[in-house]
Amino acid sequence: MSLQGKKALVTGGSRGIGSAIAKRLAAEGATVAITYAGNKAAADATVAAIEDAGGTAYAFQADAADPASQRSGIEQAAGALGGLDILVHNAGIVEFAVVSDDTDENFDRQFGVNVKGLHVGTRAALPHLADGGRIILIGSIASQKAFPTNSVYSATKAAVAALARGWSKDLAPRKILVNTVQPGSIDTDMNPADDEFAPQAIGLIPLARFGSAEEIAGAVAFFAGPDATYITGATLNVDGGVAA
Ligand code: NDP
Repeated sequence: MSLQGKKALVTGGSRGIGSAIAKRLAAEGATVAITYAGNKAAADATVAAIEDAGGTAYAFQADAADPASQRSGIEQAAGALGGLDILVHNAGIVEFAVVSDDTDENFDRQFGVNVKGLHVGTRAALPHLADGGRIILIGSIASQKAFPTNSVYSATKAAVAALARGWSKDLAPRKILVNTVQPGSIDTDMNPADDEFAPQAIGLIPLARFGSAEEIAGAVAFFAGPDATYITGATLNVDGGVAA
């Protein structure tokens, strides 16, 4: 187990990709805390799955879009874990609108969760994060490939990758490594592989299928682990080849 003794926090760990990341980091030996927005049942289910497998996990409600709530969640998680070695910013939302129909609220909500939540959360976590620690951001290939109705979300995810590149420079003196994983179409509540838009999406994917949350978790475990000691400021697409 490559993360034995490590302390990991995954934001938005109750469902989908975040839940798979939390379970994978725990399977590698890390003690894990997750945050969630409102779905306590799903958060409890993730914790129970980790504990059933012999791990230790905690869950805290924290709205990434609300700075006070985000800070409180990070503080509680760091307190329960007794510090942090790995921070995974996974919480994210998407709203669809063509620009002519878009709204200030839509813009602010997506930037609030997907970008400001990471900025607030990282600043709250840094006093607790060990030197040599890891920060992994979940972006999207939408940062570099446009889709209709998706421009604001794309802009948030371009900002995510930019934050990671900047933080990799800022935090290099502490040997904290910062990288971004950019998923393509991953089968979750946000993007079900069986909805009406899925066939069109699959038509664009060279590997001709949606990815699984576990396939994103594998990339995160790599960036969190002992084989990724000389990688920082990088962006890895896990997308079945869409962005190539
Ligand atoms: P889901 O909608 O399936 O799950 C979202 C998770 O984030 C839930 O745990 C949810 O908590 C949490 N969350 C949502 N809003 C907030 C908030 N304001 N504060 C704290 N937690 C919040 O999404 P995915 O698993 O599909 O996506 C995870 C990440 O991956 C996101 O950043 C997304 O943009 C990115 N991504 C996903 C892709 C996909 O195809 N699925 C593709 C590319 C990127 P709760 O359960 O309480 O609601």
